[in-house]
Amino acid sequence: MVQFSDIPVVGQVGLIEVNTAFQNDVSPLKVDLIYGTFRSEDGSNYLLPVVKRAENMVVNDTLNHNYLSPTGIEGFTKSACRLLLGDIEKLWKDGKVFGVQCMGGTGAIKIGAEFLARHMNCTTVYYPDPSWEMHGTVFSLSGFKNKIQYRYINRETIEIDFEGLCEDISNAPSDSVVILHACGHNPTGLDPSKEQWRTIAEIMKKRKLIPFFDIAYQGMASGDIEEDTWAVRHFHSEGFEFLCAQSFSKMFTVYNERVGNLTIVQKSGHNIESLKVHLERIIRSIYSSPPNHGARAVFQILSNPELYDEWLSSFKAMAARMIELRKDFRKALEEEGAFRKWNHITDQKGMFILLHLTDNQVEYLRNFHHVYMVKSGRVNVTGLNFTNINYVAKAIIDTLRK
Ligand code: PMP
Repeated sequence: MVQFSDIPVVGQVGLIEVNTAFQNDVSPLKVDLIYGTFRSEDGSNYLLPVVKRAENMVVNDTLNHNYLSPTGIEGFTKSACRLLLGDIEKLWKDGKVFGVQCMGGTGAIKIGAEFLARHMNCTTVYYPDPSWEMHGTVFSLSGFKNKIQYRYINRETIEIDFEGLCEDISNAPSDSVVILHACGHNPTGLDPSKEQWRTIAEIMKKRKLIPFFDIAYQGMASGDIEEDTWAVRHFHSEGFEFLCAQSFSKMFTVYNERVGNLTIVQKSGHNIESLKVHLERIIRSIYSSPPNHGARAVFQILSNPELYDEWLSSFKAMAARMIELRKDFRKALEEEGAFRKWNHITDQKGMFILLHLTDNQVEYLRNFHHVYMVKSGRVNVTGLNFTNINYVAKAIIDTLRK
């Protein structure tokens, strides 16, 4: 009989492994640049005050804890689709745009992947090299046989390898799913220009590829909520059918509430009810129905003009702080290590800076300087602050000189 002890022994990997090592480090010097959660200047986890306000309203309005429907709160998903696509009133009515509330962005990617594998017979997924660490895993555990990474970055010039990207997706068989980071690419912080997005859309149309957008940092790349949806809206205007996984974790600082939405855009709306039944069945088989509280609070903010304005101004302040931190970090690195160019620190956008370090260098930073970051030197820019920014810059330069 099979026993639990027969299971091959494995260690923690990725973010979880780095975080465990950070928690076990007793040095007062330690610096946490690991997870993509927004930190205040004092290093503590930040909660948007408007979220607290909305949460209090939601708690007061909660009469019971009855199950939600598997596809979640309809008003929430509609607000989420509107945030992504703008005025959707008619499209919504016609069943050409609809949403499914999911457990964070990860949940939306999972439900989308299961749907594509079971109901569209998709077997091949393309995603960037590098990408968010779970893309490949989610798709292969959802039954995708072929996981192929398309070229995304030129590691010499620290720019997008646009030729490589185009060549790779041009070779994709039709009906392949292509994951596209809509903005604030994780981990490189490099997004295609509008011209490049147009070319990507042309290739994908010609090759009959299925776009699957992942948007976890809307507003955090350009500082503008609408501007960051440009790529998604462009594909929409080009007549694509597509999916988009939206994460509200970062935009609303509600990481552990698991607030997400899967937006589906289709050309014809006649079978929307049946599509929803397919999605409901997938959701029922995994977690039955989504949680209420976080999505209800986000919905409260998105549907109340006063709360929405408050959210928008705090959110813009968050985005502005990230831009300022990038400038300060670049300056500190230039002062310590003029032997290298550091322009990529301010050229990249969003929450992450990719330093392009080797595994040994990341290890060295951790062991000798107590500075923790994930593979390739991905840094959560908000983990930096006036107290540690020079220390981190010095540690990086020391590591590069070894
Ligand atoms: N996609 C990307 C690109 C991400 O960076 C993240 C979160 N780090 C997710 C999806 C998952 O979002 P969530 O935490 O809401 O599940």
